[in-house]
Parts: sequence; C-alpha cells; structure tokens
Amino acid sequence: MSSREKIGAGTLSVWAGEEQRPGGRATQVPVVHSVSFGYDDLEQWLEVAQGRRPGHIYGRNTNPTVQVFEEKVRRLEGAEAATSAATGMAVISSTLFALLSPGDRVVSVKDTYGGTSKLFLEFLPRFRVETTLCDTTDHAAIEARIAEGCRLLYLESPTNPTVKVIDLARLADAARARGAVVVVDNTFATPVNQNPLQLGADLVLHSATKFLGGHADALGGVVCGRRDLVEKIYHFREINGATLHPMAAYLLLRGMKTLQLRIDRQNRSALEIARFLSDHPAVGRVHYPGLPSHPGHDIACRQMRGFGGVLSFELKHNTLAAAGRLVSRLRYAHRAANLGAVETIVGPPATTSHVECSAEERAAMGIPEGLIRYSTGIEDPQDLIADLAQALAAAG
Ligand SMILES: *Cc1c(COP(=O)(O)O)cnc(C)c1O
Repeated sequence: MSSREKIGAGTLSVWAGEEQRPGGRATQVPVVHSVSFGYDDLEQWLEVAQGRRPGHIYGRNTNPTVQVFEEKVRRLEGAEAATSAATGMAVISSTLFALLSPGDRVVSVKDTYGGTSKLFLEFLPRFRVETTLCDTTDHAAIEARIAEGCRLLYLESPTNPTVKVIDLARLADAARARGAVVVVDNTFATPVNQNPLQLGADLVLHSATKFLGGHADALGGVVCGRRDLVEKIYHFREINGATLHPMAAYLLLRGMKTLQLRIDRQNRSALEIARFLSDHPAVGRVHYPGLPSHPGHDIACRQMRGFGGVLSFELKHNTLAAAGRLVSRLRYAHRAANLGAVETIVGPPATTSHVECSAEERAAMGIPEGLIRYSTGIEDPQDLIADLAQALAAAG
C-alpha cells in the first residue's frame, strides 16, 4: 500500500511539513492563535469552506500550526492523510466512534492502553458495539476471532507495561481477508522504529504526548492512514471538538525536531539497561523485546528497526513495597505516570497505567505487583546504569 519515502526519519523529523511555512519568512513555524480566518472575497470564502480551495475557516476545524504537525507525522508514517486531536485518547475515541456503528464487533487484545480498554469495556457496549479482547500474544486465537467476522481489528505493539510484541503483518492479513479495518497504536514504537502502514494496517495512531513530543510538556494525539477513513475521523473530531491546541502543536513540533536523535539514543540505552538488569542477582524477569529471551524478540526483529525506550522488570523480592523502595532511591528518574520523555521516568503499573485495576485484576493480566516500568530518557546510559546499581545494592 503506502511506502515510506527514501528520505531518512532524521531529515523528515526536521523538515517534513515545513515546506510551505505559514509565517512568511520566519524560519520557525509560528503559533497561530487566531480562532478565525477572514476573507474579503465571499466567493473565495465559500470555496475554502467547501474544501475546494486550501485554507482555514475556524480553529476548531483546522489551524496552520496544527496542520504542519499533522503533515510531519503523516510523512514519517508514509501515510495518505493525517488528522490530530487534543490528546491520544481523543484521537482513539474519535477513531472508534467515527468508524463503528451499533451491531459492529471489534477484535482487540487484553494489553491495550488502560483508557482504550475502558472504551471497549465501558463505553462502546452502550452503543451496542462489542469488543472481544484476546490474549495479546496468542496469534492463532486472535485469527480465530477475526475469522468469526469483525468490523475493526485494534492492536498495540509493543504493549504497556510488559512490552509484549504482536505480529502486525500476520494479523493485518487475517483482518483484511475479512474486510475489517486495521488500527494500530504505535505510541511505544514511534515511526522511527516501526511503520504499521507498511505492515498492512489501514490506520496508525499515536499519543503524541509521549515520544513524539518527548518533553512531557504538551498533550496531543494524531492518526494517519487511508484518506477515506481519516476524513471520517476528522469530521467526527471537528464536531466533538477535541481539537489540538496550536500552542501544543508548536511544542510537539519543536520536540519532534529531535525525534530521531532521541529514539536512537533511547533504543541503545534501553537495550544496555535491559542487559545490565538481566545479569543482576537481585532482579527477576526483565521485559524488553531487544533481549533474545523475550518471547516476541523474533517478531520484533522482523517488524521494528529499534526496540524502543520502554522496558519493565521485577525484583526477585517481587512486592510493591520492595519496588517502591527501589524506585524512591533512584536519582535520575521522575516517579510519575508518564513515559517517552527526555528524562527517565519510572513507576509501578500498580500506581500508573493500571491504577484503576484491583491487585487481582492486575495478576489476571499478568502484571505482578512489584513490576517496575522504566522509560529510558536521554541521559548518559552509564549514569542510568550506575544509578540503578546503587539503588539495587541498597535494596538487596
Ligand atoms: C498515553 C497513551 C495513550 C493515551 O494518550 P493521552 O495523550 O494520555 O491521551 C494511548 N496509548 C498509549 C500506548 C499510551 O501510552
């Protein structure tokens, strides 16, 4: 289907979307705060309003700063079209509500982002849309569910927080054979490491709040892929009003200039840290797709160019209290419910991504109480490893 252009991700991160800068001769994309765009010529105004001529009418619909952000991600994902929303969840809910109707069935996996699984289990059923959540890495079972007929296949890889890997090409093939739309949340991988559209997905979406922006100072979401689908999502989002703010778009654009540099560094550091932790006597299991011991390692080698910045691990003494003691001793880490930033961020899923689940529910999802999610920042890897070593020594 789509093929990503030959230009490298580093060049695209810097230049894509900025060919026609909206700010006259300014070298940097300006923040256009204006809510409306005026036309002296009524005929011209009408053409823009009807989409027959490029331009902007009203800020809830489109905005020049926001448009550059969408274009940059579109090019990095090798997509036909892109649209954005105020947050990752705004883009995910707009996608699902724009494309699904009563009676439709969705097939997805148990390990989707917490907010996404709330949509599947709490909100969509009220509109008679049922979701079957499969074991995340049981590909045969997922294929069997798809074969029963579904309108949409929703995947995420790698997943949060145990960094499971799903064979996207295999499942996209199965879904397309049944005429289902394939949607992939690519937040953890980023377009630097993985392009789901090239693996057969119809739509790829991101919480731009995480790695795309990379500085934990702006919320945003973006979805790209088939034009007909993106237009439906755009139309729903323009009406539900969860529009990306131009100031947030500016911060995300500024962050994205260094996307490839950051991801490159985070890929390498996370792999070094995963290896260090695997060899440490106080550490139990380490979850990172870059380790040959990871069950999804071979799939990751096929579909990813790097293994990403997020890993998770368990202490041998695998309790929430022990994890808490370790995490509180780290010097170079925010203890916070976020990931994908320039600073290292740690937290147990019990207090971050899966705080709304009971201990029993987390156990059923294969998330031990003492699991620690580690989102590697851009610090020097030897300092991060030394920091982990001193915290583990004190814990041991
Ligand atoms: C954070 C996150 C989201 C939600 O994004 P927000 O910007 O917080 O709404 C969705 N998917 C994944 C994988 C995430 O990590």
